[in-house]
Amino acid sequence: MTRKIAILGATGSIGKSTLDIAERAPDRFEVVSVTAATNVEALAAIARRTSARLAVIADESRLPTLRDLLAGTSCQAAAGESALAEAAAGEAELVIAAIVGCAGLRPTMAAVEAGKTVALANKEALVTAGALMTSAAQKHGATLLPVDSEHNAIFQCLAGNRVEDASRIILTASGGPFRTASAEQIERASPAEAVAHPNWSMGAKISVDSATLMNKGLELIEAHYLFGLPSERIDILIHPQSVVHSMVEFVDGSVLAQLGSPDMRIAIAYALAWPERIPTPAQRLDLAQIGSLDFEMPDVQRFPALQLAREALEAGGASPIVLNAANEVAVASFLAGRIRFRDIAATVEQALQAADCAPPKSIADVLGVDRRTRLRVEASMKEHCS
Ligand code: NAD
Ligand code: MG
Repeated sequence: MTRKIAILGATGSIGKSTLDIAERAPDRFEVVSVTAATNVEALAAIARRTSARLAVIADESRLPTLRDLLAGTSCQAAAGESALAEAAAGEAELVIAAIVGCAGLRPTMAAVEAGKTVALANKEALVTAGALMTSAAQKHGATLLPVDSEHNAIFQCLAGNRVEDASRIILTASGGPFRTASAEQIERASPAEAVAHPNWSMGAKISVDSATLMNKGLELIEAHYLFGLPSERIDILIHPQSVVHSMVEFVDGSVLAQLGSPDMRIAIAYALAWPERIPTPAQRLDLAQIGSLDFEMPDVQRFPALQLAREALEAGGASPIVLNAANEVAVASFLAGRIRFRDIAATVEQALQAADCAPPKSIADVLGVDRRTRLRVEASMKEHCS
């Protein structure tokens, strides 16, 4: 029996790795729906190659081109927000949520509300709507399987254990490209330097997040919602080799870790085949060759984003939404050369000071806070730049 899968964000880094795993096991997986933001050529090529039945482009102006590119196939072309939700809630049993940013929230929620098994890479959806999403998953019988390597590692460590017996989660972080850089070097960092991650190859936004350590901050919030532990029981540990993907400490003092080479296809394969395992082409771990594994505490002076994320989690309410929205705007501005690297955390900090604290009651509330924060941050950037 093959499993029907939908890949939301099929043209991205996670999307491509998912396709690689799925296409190696055609007896197990059938790609039925694929989506992308704007790149119709890449989307159409994926849809043709996989014989998908639905291809959705978020940008509606590109629908005619997508239709042309899919002419002669049995793949339906569609565009816009409701079509994205349709791809998520349609015939697939397993939905890979791999859109970047809060833009993935509605389609991911559509999959959850349709009771799907959701392999979740889109951490921003959980950061902004964690409580709403986990309760919707319970209500609709959906299963959330973490794809983010740290959370996938924790999920693996918890298998066969009770989460109540976990005393601490230890999220590991590579430290990013500026782990050993001075505050002055970090201040002057260019977009090219920031996206050059030492161990992982990823999309631009998450690469910048890894450089500021905001990625680990978002993952702290993600871990809280996925596993239900409070902030004080989730630690962050810098581990430059990215071999130990995260750890769980249990009440008896045992610590379980999941190790592997830094290749997202391992985490993706685990989520796709769960509760079974399937082979991947990922490089095998050669610990003798690696020699030693190092660990150190994160430096919150040079990387203030980590502390901002922890404060947002602890403040609760709408703070994580504000944190995420301000970060998305700031990262895009940094990549466009409009602000400096250190302004990313400063922008987020400023936005959090003006955060409205009422907890969101609906996805519409979440998207309202997200939109208002973006407008506010953009307006304040314009003011500073003019
Ligand atoms: P990416 O930029 O490489 O790809 C993003 C995908 O989302 C693309 O297919 C793009 O077309 C689509 N997309 C972007 N904006 C959209 C919009 N407004 N509407 C609809 N679709 C849109 O990103 P990525 O690195 O693959 O990351 C995807 C998600 O997975 C992120 O949330 C990231 O944090 C998470 N993640 C990624 C990695 C990794 O190794 N890349 C690891 C862990 C978690
Ligand atoms: Mg991660």
